[in-house]
Amino acid sequence: MVIVLEKNINEKKLENVIKHLEDFGFAVHKSTGVEQIVLGAIGVKNDFDIRQVKVLDGVSEVYRITEPYKLASRTFKKENTEIKIKDIVIGGNEVVMMAGPCSVENEDQIFTIAEIVAASGAKILRGGAFKPRTSPYSFQGLGEEGLKLLRKAADKYNLLVITEVMETSQIKLIEEYTDIFQVGARNMQNFSLMRDLGKASKPVMLKRGLAATVEDWMMSAEYILSNGNKNVMLCERGIRTFETITRNTFDLSAFPVVHKISHLPVIADPSHATGIRDKVLPMARAAVAAGADGLMVEVHHDPEKALSDGPQALLPDQFTELMKQVKLIAKVIGRKMG
Ligand code: PEP
Ligand code: MN
Repeated sequence: MVIVLEKNINEKKLENVIKHLEDFGFAVHKSTGVEQIVLGAIGVKNDFDIRQVKVLDGVSEVYRITEPYKLASRTFKKENTEIKIKDIVIGGNEVVMMAGPCSVENEDQIFTIAEIVAASGAKILRGGAFKPRTSPYSFQGLGEEGLKLLRKAADKYNLLVITEVMETSQIKLIEEYTDIFQVGARNMQNFSLMRDLGKASKPVMLKRGLAATVEDWMMSAEYILSNGNKNVMLCERGIRTFETITRNTFDLSAFPVVHKISHLPVIADPSHATGIRDKVLPMARAAVAAGADGLMVEVHHDPEKALSDGPQALLPDQFTELMKQVKLIAKVIGRKMG
């Protein structure tokens, strides 16, 4: 931690700040400039609240140097985390495609879409059976029936399954059907759910919260990791900004930023990030170019009748075109896809 003291601080205040830092258990180093003194405090624990120093008389700025998260950081683990599920690796050289409808609606729908996405090279079938809708009056998902259909469709087309878990009480049930738990943006800071997913046996994809900083996101991942589940991947799905022309604002810089500070794989969801069908392909290309380890894309053969997120679902031909184009981008940056 670096502490910048106010200009021309008097001796008494300086001593008081140093005494507090020592009482907190830090080793203190002093650098004296012409007008200003900077203190270095060594030995900051992950849970130390730096505001305790910010409020001391004579302190003007405090900067934390070490991250407040540990297990999720590159400092803790240098090599990339590779999540192996059956014959698929997430976080390796291959960029993995997850695709499917927003919600599982009925047998015909999920089997039709599974066939389409598998034919174009997707490896993982997505589809919500429990839906976190903003309105309680919107379609809430088929529940267990949806899970069964999703699993059956995925098995038929040799795909893995990813589906959302909204609450702790659903973990056991969903674990029987899914290969990856999806945590939705609205649940990123549901810490009791994170803790319980930390004890689950399947990997977790943690979506970034609507208004979460990268640090908030990493702290949520830390909850899962610190409870024992090491197979965590992150998913950038757009954040709330002042811009309203797209559903959310896709934070493309999240890919290089997170890859630098963390060893966890990062997936891109250009569907929820933009919310508009024709914006999905360009942002998918951009995400792969920026280093995404996988893509999650919504696809529907009849989006006008979709029970959720129809306007952002790609039509089958558009999905095939997207796969073709992102494969080319992956190749340019030395990665494989499909
Ligand atoms: C979804 O994937 O269908 C979903 C609800 O996403 P998010 O949590 O990112 O809004
Ligand atoms: Mn959706």
